[in-house]
Amino acid sequence: MYRQSSSNRTSVRRRTAPRAGRPSGRNFGVRIIIGLVMAGFAIFSYVSSRQYNEVLGEEQYINISADQEIALGLQAVPQLIQEYGGLEPDPLAQGFVDEIGFRLVDNTAAGQTPYQFEFYLLADDQTVNAFALPGGQVFITTALYDRLETEGQLAGVLGHEIGHVIARHGAQRIAQQQLSEGLTGAVVMATVDPDNPSSMRTAEVAQVVSGFVTMKYGREDELQSDYLGVRLMVEAGYDPHALKGVMAILEAAGGGARQPEFFSTHPNPGNRIQEIDRAINELYPDGLPGGLTP
Ligand SMILES: [Zn+2]
Repeated sequence: MYRQSSSNRTSVRRRTAPRAGRPSGRNFGVRIIIGLVMAGFAIFSYVSSRQYNEVLGEEQYINISADQEIALGLQAVPQLIQEYGGLEPDPLAQGFVDEIGFRLVDNTAAGQTPYQFEFYLLADDQTVNAFALPGGQVFITTALYDRLETEGQLAGVLGHEIGHVIARHGAQRIAQQQLSEGLTGAVVMATVDPDNPSSMRTAEVAQVVSGFVTMKYGREDELQSDYLGVRLMVEAGYDPHALKGVMAILEAAGGGARQPEFFSTHPNPGNRIQEIDRAINELYPDGLPGGLTP
């Protein structure tokens, strides 16, 4: 380690030493041109990556396939399970999470997507959180699970996370990151072949994967996931008003070191509860169907 850093220092000194009589302007010009070409390529890649999302009914800028999303998400699963203290050992609780999760997938548009959903109850009983990886891996901590009061609230949490998956928010994030980082990201993603897992064992992909752990979605993404959550809940037979209860629980649990994913960028639950009401009125102007599970 020490030897390496001292040799770095030497090379820095060598690089910054003045080179007599050499015009540095020409190098500078070449670097600008290379930079412009790279930026141009990044913008071109981004703009030409437009895909139609059938679930949302809108165009998105995404430059990886659903299979690549699934492969990347699966790759990050062990790291996330480890970060949250392993899996909850109680098979009954895990079974309940599976039951609600798959009721939301099997009875809704989520089941028509290529994504491979899996639901994990994490053992962490301190961190109130839930999140989803691209491709369908969905997590909830025991700390949040234990605070939920009804089956419908669990459906609200999972429905919101399934919303992130089918809206492809993680993949959109990757495309935006690549636009800002230029070529590097494009090269990384080009090397990910879902049929050949060994192609993914590079440091760059590991970096993308660990980025999921700290990934924050934007306010619009959160509202869109709430909206989709409402829709999935009703299609699966749950009362979407339960999602408002989740917001209240998260608000009461707030203030910890780690913000729940739900509140990462949109810490105004009052405002969000209003938006959920608006989504319910917009999606079901004639009222909700009867017999919904609270
Ligand atoms: Zn969210």
